Amino acid sequence: MSVTATNSDILIDKFGRTVNYLRISVTDRCDFRCIYCMEEEMNFVPRAQLLTLEELSLIGRAFVELGVSKIRVTGGEPLVRRNVLQLFQNLGQLPGLEELVTTTNGSQLPLLAADLKAAGVDRINISDLSKVLAGIDAAQAAGFEKIKINAVILKNRNHNEIVDLVRFAISKGLDITFIEEMPLGHVGTHDRAEAYYSSDAIRRDLEAIYTLIPTTESTGGPARYYKLTDHSDTRIGFISPHSHNFCETCNRVRLTCEGRLLLCLGQEHSVDLRHVIRSHPGDMDRLKQAIRAAMDIKPKGHEFDLSAKPVIFRHMNSTGG
Ligand code: SAM
Ligand code: SF4
Repeated sequence: MSVTATNSDILIDKFGRTVNYLRISVTDRCDFRCIYCMEEEMNFVPRAQLLTLEELSLIGRAFVELGVSKIRVTGGEPLVRRNVLQLFQNLGQLPGLEELVTTTNGSQLPLLAADLKAAGVDRINISDLSKVLAGIDAAQAAGFEKIKINAVILKNRNHNEIVDLVRFAISKGLDITFIEEMPLGHVGTHDRAEAYYSSDAIRRDLEAIYTLIPTTESTGGPARYYKLTDHSDTRIGFISPHSHNFCETCNRVRLTCEGRLLLCLGQEHSVDLRHVIRSHPGDMDRLKQAIRAAMDIKPKGHEFDLSAKPVIFRHMNSTGG
């Protein structure tokens, strides 16, 4: 962990934000169909168009050599990609990578938690609760600390479960982050504007029972954290793309499983890195140059408007949420 990028070798966008965090979506497929994320029937990227695990590792290495210190492997469901452990092992060995983390629905953790830990994965975020209790237990048994549950809250669907989720997190010593639903892709199951349940509403629900103390703690992302007076282990986070825009401090970019480098979650600005590495195999300088140049088109921020028609057609599973 001794390599530090020199100043000319770090990624800074034209608004002065340093990009030191890469999220890699290794697949857009998933064994679940969370209604805020996907439709029941989806068209997935044909396998031939996916970046190979070697290509993903190479791009990861290029980013780390350009000063990126944190990589999150996500999806779709990252742990359903065949042989994905190989990618974790490759990334886990990169000098200069300080944090290797993953977001998973947890379904494969009973099988893979111990191997992920051995590959050098530092932390796990687990997003779906009902089917994954065994996965959470497996991750804890493998020695993961600071496991975080992500919960997207939808009004009249699960907003009455907020306190139960926090009780569960406390009982297991987990952190929990509540996320406002983002309008990515069309979903037929609900109207996203009607389902909007703000972070402030969630906080009010919790404050009926708990005392929440704001902290300045950060996990390097947009979540704002609170502690509970009587339960010092559990942090409550809020990711509020609608009510508390976080674009000013954005430090991340996303790589889709097809090799498209997305510069913003809520905009379509992107660069085709698959084209770069396939047209010039092994040319690390060209790859890095393309990544550096991409910083110039990182947009200022997202502009989600729940009352208008969705403008982003890609779903969260292909975004690398
Ligand atoms: N399958 C893994 C999982 O569910 O944790 C990783 C990928 S998933 C797309 C990453 C995160 O995005 C999850 O925490 C999920 O709850 C969240 N998510 C999915 N769709 C969302 C949406 N429309 N708005 C906000 N968060 C969303
Ligand atoms: Fe799958 Fe994660 Fe999307 Fe749920 S949120 S459908 S688990 S990719």
